[in-house]
Amino acid sequence: MKVGVLALQGDVREHISSLITCGVNPVAVRRSIEIDQIDALVLPGGESTTIAQLSEVFGIYNQIRDRIADGMPVYGSCAGMILLANEILDAKEGQKSFGGLDITVRRNAFGRQVDSFESDIAFNDGSADLVHAVFIRAPWVEHVGESVHVLAAVDKHPVAVRSERLLATSFHPELTGDHRIHRYFIEEVARPALEKVK
Ligand code: GLN
Repeated sequence: MKVGVLALQGDVREHISSLITCGVNPVAVRRSIEIDQIDALVLPGGESTTIAQLSEVFGIYNQIRDRIADGMPVYGSCAGMILLANEILDAKEGQKSFGGLDITVRRNAFGRQVDSFESDIAFNDGSADLVHAVFIRAPWVEHVGESVHVLAAVDKHPVAVRSERLLATSFHPELTGDHRIHRYFIEEVARPALEKVK
C-alpha cells in the first residue's frame, strides 16, 4: 500500500514517522504526479486554510477532492479533519475543504483561552485502553451524517469519527508516540477498503 502524507504545511514529518512504525512506506506528496501514485492519504495537522490555499497554488485541490470522492482512504488529524469535512463552521471567509466526510466541524471549537490541552480518552476500536490525546486549537464535530460513526468524544463532542474509508481526529496522535490511531487507519480503514477494490 502506498500511503502519501500531504506535504504543503503542518506536521508532515511526525505523520511519516508514525506511519513507518505501522510498517508502511509513506511518501511526502505535493505534486499531481505524486498524488496519482498513492493508494491512501494522510492530511496532517497544521492550518486548514493554508493547506487548502496551497493545494490550489500547487494545482492539486481538485485532484485531491476528486480522489477522495472516488473512494481513496484518507486520515485527517486536526486541520486534516477540517479539510475532510463537508461543512465548516467558523470558517475563514472563502475557506474550502476537500470534503467527502459527512460531518460539520467547528474550527477552534474548544475556545481561544484553552487553545491546547491534553486528555486521556476512550477510542472505540475494541480496546479498553485510553488514548493520550493532544488538542491544539482543535475543532470538534457538531453534526455527523448517517454514514459516520463516532469513535471518541470529549464532553459529548465527537473528536474522532469515521465513515467507511475516511478517518478524522481533532487531536494529534502523530505527536505522542502512540501509533494506535495510525495503525487503526492502516489496518481497519485503508487496507480493507483497498482490498475491496482489487
Ligand atoms: N485551528 C487549525 C485550523 O483551523 C487547526 C489546528 C491544528 O491542526 N492543530 O486549521
